[in-house]
Amino acid sequence: MQVDRNALRMIQELSDAPGASGFEDAVVAVARNYCALIGPMEEDFLRNLYIRRKENHGGRPVVMLDAHSDEVGLVVHSIKPNGTLRFLMLGSWNKNALIGTKVLVRNADGDYIPGIIAAKPVHFMTSDEEKRQKTVDIGDMVIDVGAVSYEDAVENFRVRMGEPVVPDTKFAYDEKRDLMFGKGFDCRIGCAAMIEALRRLDGKELPCDVIAVLSTQEELGPRNSKVTVHRIHPDIAIVMEGCPADDTFTEPYAIQTALKKGPMFRHLDVSAICAPRYQRWALDLAARKGIPVQESVRQGGGNNAASIQTALVGAPSIVCGVPVRYAHSPNCISTYYDFEKSVEMVIALLENITPELIAAL
Ligand SMILES: [Zn+2]
Repeated sequence: MQVDRNALRMIQELSDAPGASGFEDAVVAVARNYCALIGPMEEDFLRNLYIRRKENHGGRPVVMLDAHSDEVGLVVHSIKPNGTLRFLMLGSWNKNALIGTKVLVRNADGDYIPGIIAAKPVHFMTSDEEKRQKTVDIGDMVIDVGAVSYEDAVENFRVRMGEPVVPDTKFAYDEKRDLMFGKGFDCRIGCAAMIEALRRLDGKELPCDVIAVLSTQEELGPRNSKVTVHRIHPDIAIVMEGCPADDTFTEPYAIQTALKKGPMFRHLDVSAICAPRYQRWALDLAARKGIPVQESVRQGGGNNAASIQTALVGAPSIVCGVPVRYAHSPNCISTYYDFEKSVEMVIALLENITPELIAAL
């Protein structure tokens, strides 16, 4: 597996950047550095970042690429008299994965300071509480930055209500086994695949114009894509995702998203049915090009296709997801192979989506 060092560094920087929903600033800053070649960029009030290919002509159909820049995070609810912090979730977490997690809490100076998510230690539990541990809720947890009182937390740690919190997880790559470890792969790995595909298409003539967007606040429901779709006016869309892998806890016959088997194309989830004729065409294209892909039908989940294809002309939308084990938890696993195949797939889609295809859908 040939690893592109520049692409790997981009994945690392995007993954490490703190970007809880609504607080995506650092992620947007990293993305801007890697998008400068692609074409002009602009932002709206929600910090959605739009990237237009410099090769766009205008006067022809527009392909929208979307990847969300936020990650599931936490937010400070209040400071207790003992200096620990109560918090709420921004997005849906696997709560069982939270206790013991090292986190970074943004303070009033804009610095991210370390803390840990703590619950009552087992030493102090009654036998009843010890039995009930499985049902621990976030209301039973606190973030401990090491302060000893409310005043200490406010004055010395500069902690305050409404500030974002993210896992303190650093990206690591095991090249021998091709495994990437890190946080926020949903959807930073999708952001990276989108940007990398556009970088590789530099200078290339495509059949349609392409406008990409790094959209914010997706983990709170497909919200901000309601705004981006009106700015872009797409005729067709490709939604990039870091999508949950199910290969470590599912019966073999039912596995739909596994590591090292290529990008996943989602037929439907609870939020959207991805345009069936477009989906079929994309799967056939993958087969023709010899790019491995996977398919899924999901009971839960959601993605930005939901709002893109229910606004304006109802642009047909598909979802191309890079498999991520343990999305929505502080530590995820993904592979460069799946990233690479996702990039190749996006390039194949952009090279083959023509005005005639769109009209035929
Ligand atoms: Zn996502």
